[in-house]
Formats: sequence, C-alpha cells, structure tokens
Amino acid sequence: MASNLLHILPPQRLLRPLAVPERLLLGPGPSNVPPRILAASSRQLLGHMHPEVLQVMDDIKVGIQYAFQTQNKLTLAISGTGHCAMEAAFLNLVEHGDTVLVAVNGIWGQRAADIARRLGASVHELLKPPGEYFTPWDIEEGLIQHKPSVLFITHGESSTGVLQPLEGLGKLCHRHGCLLLVDAVASLGGAPIFMDQQEIDILYSGSQKVLNAPPGSAPISFSEQAREKILRRKTNPPSFYLDMRWLANYWGCDGEARRYHHTAPISSFFSLREGLAMLAELVSGSRQAKARLPTITTVRVPEGYDWKEITAFLMDNHAIEISGGLGPSLGKVLRIGLMGCNSTSRNVDRVLHALRDALRCCRRSRL
Ligand code: PMP
Repeated sequence: MASNLLHILPPQRLLRPLAVPERLLLGPGPSNVPPRILAASSRQLLGHMHPEVLQVMDDIKVGIQYAFQTQNKLTLAISGTGHCAMEAAFLNLVEHGDTVLVAVNGIWGQRAADIARRLGASVHELLKPPGEYFTPWDIEEGLIQHKPSVLFITHGESSTGVLQPLEGLGKLCHRHGCLLLVDAVASLGGAPIFMDQQEIDILYSGSQKVLNAPPGSAPISFSEQAREKILRRKTNPPSFYLDMRWLANYWGCDGEARRYHHTAPISSFFSLREGLAMLAELVSGSRQAKARLPTITTVRVPEGYDWKEITAFLMDNHAIEISGGLGPSLGKVLRIGLMGCNSTSRNVDRVLHALRDALRCCRRSRL
C-alpha cells in the first residue's frame, strides 16, 4: 500500500511485543493450559480437508463419545465456544411455535430461555432461587403443565456452584414425549455424566474448562431421537454455519463423502484432541453425592468485604484469577475454579493462602 494514501496510521500498540503474563487461572474458566496441549495448538497447520486433520476430527469424535459416555453417531465439536453449542442445540431442535421448557436456577437457564425465544419458541421457565436445584417432581410438574418438546437444564450451574442431579430426568422427559437438553460446559470431566444411561438427548460442553484446551471448540452429541427430530424439520435451521445436517456430513457422521462446510479451526482441534486424550488417560472419578459442583467452588463473600477488592487483590498481589458472582449470584459469592490440570492440592493451598492475605489486607467496605 502506498503509505501516503493511508489515513489511519499503523497503531503504535501493535508495534510493541505481545504481552502475556503468567497467571494462575482459578476462575470459572478458562483454566490454565498444560504444556502438552499448548504444544499441540502451536503445531504447523495442515489443510482442513487433509486426511490427517480428518483423522484428528475422528479422534475428537471418539474422545467426546468417551467423555459423554455415549455411542451416539451424531457426535462432534462445534467451531465456537459453549454459547455456540448452546445455540446449535436450540436452533437445530426448535422450530417456530415449538414449546420449550427451561429450568432456570442461574444465568445459563436465563440465557437458554433468551436463545429459545429468539427462535420463536413458546418458552416456559421453571424457576428456582440461585443455589437450589430441581427435583424430578419439579420437572414432572412442568412437563405435565406445559407439554414441551424440549427441556433445557444445566448440569453445572457455574454462576451459583450448583451441580444438578440428572438421575431419572431423561426417562421422565421421554415418558412425556420431550427431549432432554443438558448444558455440561462447566462440569464435563469434573462431575460424572452418562449420556446414554441417563437418557440425555442433547449434551454439550466447552473446551476451556476441565478439558484444559483454549476456548474455541465445543463438544456436542445428539441421541437418535434428537437426530430424527432434526431430520424431520419442516423448515431449515436459521443458521447455515450451525446447521447440524451440514456439520454431520463435515464430521463424517452421515456415512457420505465429506464435503467442505467451513474451515475448521485446526489448531483448536489439535488442542481439543489432546485435552480429550488427557481425559481418557485419567481414571474416572467417583460419583458425587451432594449437589455441589466440584469444578467451581462458590464461597459466600465475607460480610463487610467488597468482592471486587478481593478479586483485584488476588490478581495484583498473587497473579491468581478468581471470579465474582454472575447473574443472580452477582455480589454474593466468589467463584473459584479447579479444573483439569489446575485441580491440585498445591493450587488449593495457593488460593487459600492468597485469600487469607486478602482478608487481612482488603479494607472492610463501608457497610
Ligand atoms: N454454560 C455454562 C454452564 C458455562 O459455565 C459457560 C461459560 N462460563 C457457558 C455455558 C458458555 O460458554 P462460553 O463462555 O465458552 O461461550
């Protein structure tokens, strides 16, 4: 470009080197990326339709089937973050005028209801105060009253730290002619989930939490019933990018020759493959009895303290990220994430030490 034609000058800040400090990421995600996964994402690119990349996609597929405990054919990773998988689930399943029931006990139910409404669904919300979970009786009441075709529920409510028990919900939904859609972005790999045994129809997660990969790809799987509902649609899904019929072909799930749909985020897929491989190498954990989300610990903000001062103190003085509340838990809790490689007793000691320091040093607020 002739430089005398440039009215916008090269930005000075881009002429400085990239600055990325070392930090312990103990918020609700992303979590730190271990060297093996970082190394995978910095490998040289290949073409997105090269056989080696298709092989990596096949590895990801079986990795998700293992992580989700499912044999579903329609299993793949969305090129996008958790929200993208959430939208992919809704916009493939729901048509204008369909009835959707959303279990809302934190921000993720609120967002799911918003997404379903944008698609023209008739949305009903089952409400619980933040910190509580839904019993099968709560759910059954909603199913009887509203007769939805899809029920949305969050397994790991990262805004409140609640782990939703899923036992029996799939069966219940199926008895009432409804599909069960579960958000496991914040829980997958940290809290047990059994997609086939628990009769979950659509399950999705994210790459940047327990899987310890960078954000940008989101595992998702559809049961046979959910797949059939998609194939029976009267109208096209209102997104080309997230149309599951295209994606099923691109991921080799429909038995036909793979066609170009979009350019896969290849480096994200390399790192997701390694995150899933590391999960496959772990011995699976034991069942959690209490409704407490093991991946994100919520702690009530101590009386008289300002949560923002505490999180800022940890960041500035200890290079540790923890987070405040979100949505209905805003201002009430601190959220400490221990996910994948970050889930070590050393990190627990580090964050406890830093919190003790914060309680000593942060001035009490003007309450
Ligand atoms: N669902 C839950 C339970 C989450 O915790 C998050 C991320 N905090 C999301 C969905 C959205 O994921 P993303 O930020 O990757 O789009």
